[in-house]
Amino acid sequence: MIFFEAILFIWQLPQNLLGIVLCLVERARKRQRFGISYYEAKKPGPFMKYCAISLGSFIIADAAVVDKVSLMHESGHQRQSLVLGPLYLLVVGLPSVTGNLMDRLLHKKWSGERREKWYHALPWEKSADRLGGIEA
Ligand SMILES: [Zn+2]
Repeated sequence: MIFFEAILFIWQLPQNLLGIVLCLVERARKRQRFGISYYEAKKPGPFMKYCAISLGSFIIADAAVVDKVSLMHESGHQRQSLVLGPLYLLVVGLPSVTGNLMDRLLHKKWSGERREKWYHALPWEKSADRLGGIEA
């Protein structure tokens, strides 16, 4: 079992290393809610404020936004990471961060509901919702 976990850790090494660094920077502590393990940042820095992110074995979330649906969504990204391995950051991570920045810059006047709908319609986000078990 430890051997299998070690292989999965190496398979997702780029995102796991980023996850470790982000946990240290955000001083995030391991928690478990709704059957999902994650790292909670009680006082997140400017990049993690109101955010949750999935990096390999690490789901890191601002304590202010953690709820069942956001953890289910991030667990969907974890499944994408397991499948894509070293390609995850390129195929999911980069587009996801770009979509998040575009939303923050271009949709300031939109309602929260419209912004959520737009963001979760992006293919990699829609896939994370589906893999995380969120009903459409
Ligand atoms: Zn997402």
